[in-house]
Amino acid sequence: MIEYENLKKVNEKIFSQYRESFDQFINSGWYILGNNVTTFEKEFATFCNTKHCIGVASGLDALILAIDAFDFPKDSEIIVPSNTYIATILAIVRNGFKPILVEPDIVTYNIDPLKIEEKITTKTKAILVVHLYGKPCDMDPILTIANQYDLKVIEDVAQAHGAKYKDIIVGSFGVGCFSFYPTKNLGALGDAGAITTNDEEYEKKIKSLRNYGSLMKYYNDDLGYNSRLDEIQAGFLSVKLRILDDITRHKRELAKIYLENLSDKVIKPSVHEEFYDVYHIFNIRHPKRDELKAYLLNNGIKTEIHYPLASHRQKAMQGIIEGEYPIADEIHNTTLSLPISYSHSEKDIMAVCYEINKFTI
Ligand SMILES: *Cc1c(COP(=O)(O)O)cnc(C)c1O
Repeated sequence: MIEYENLKKVNEKIFSQYRESFDQFINSGWYILGNNVTTFEKEFATFCNTKHCIGVASGLDALILAIDAFDFPKDSEIIVPSNTYIATILAIVRNGFKPILVEPDIVTYNIDPLKIEEKITTKTKAILVVHLYGKPCDMDPILTIANQYDLKVIEDVAQAHGAKYKDIIVGSFGVGCFSFYPTKNLGALGDAGAITTNDEEYEKKIKSLRNYGSLMKYYNDDLGYNSRLDEIQAGFLSVKLRILDDITRHKRELAKIYLENLSDKVIKPSVHEEFYDVYHIFNIRHPKRDELKAYLLNNGIKTEIHYPLASHRQKAMQGIIEGEYPIADEIHNTTLSLPISYSHSEKDIMAVCYEINKFTI
């Protein structure tokens, strides 16, 4: 059996460092917003080439706080891709703003920069892009539009730690919102998230928002949240960050094997010289996706679907999102995620290619 993912195996190599970190943590006697959080924030800001990083409780919270911190007026609209995980859109809705969905490019699966401008109104305040599956968005045209219409750029980097667009790391273009959910390329051993920024005022605002709206104990300037990055998770994240480049290198090698060996009967992810893709997910597309998934399972290969139902079709979004998004639907109906993790070997990937290439429906 080739598993889709085995987090124990992924993390096994660094168990002893995790134990050391945990020992230090319990001995410290300081359990909320201590040295571990401060240290990880510094390390991760350096990794992202940004001036600041603020740890928060999850990826969804990173998105919610990032939007909240801008203090947009009440009836604001935020541009967001129709092809994303629902958390991106939830963060807009949770702030009381209107998500304006833009269809993806069917080649990259990321927001189509050519379709953004037609959705901009006087209420538009930000473009929230998602570097989906680990592939960076085409940032140049997006930044040009944002500049022209004076829009904030927020990046959902939950799937793209360390990805680069024209040698610039994602999360450093605008405000970067990261998830460290255990399955993510930089995964904690529980929930965790972070926001990256180059703006000192904005950093202060996020630090306030994550801690009841307070920068000075018991004095509250903002209507905040309790969304602090946990000390234990921050310690674990510092350990994991040391092997993130190795994880990325490994995943990119496995992706190369898929790209070279999978037959053209399946649609493979696009490759662009300007996009340094970190392959959080390696997806293929096939018109008979469900049959292919069942066939692979029969042959001992587990796969996943990211995602089976587009956000605009979710029950929770009825009455909130209007319109038709056929390209997002097409991707959701045909996409299949293949095993690609730190614990998979080249042999595993060759075996997956072999089975897929034999599939004849
Ligand atoms: C995982 C994910 C999130 C949410 O992160 P959590 O830490 O689970 O809250 C948001 N956006 C995308 C694209 C994700 O993949």
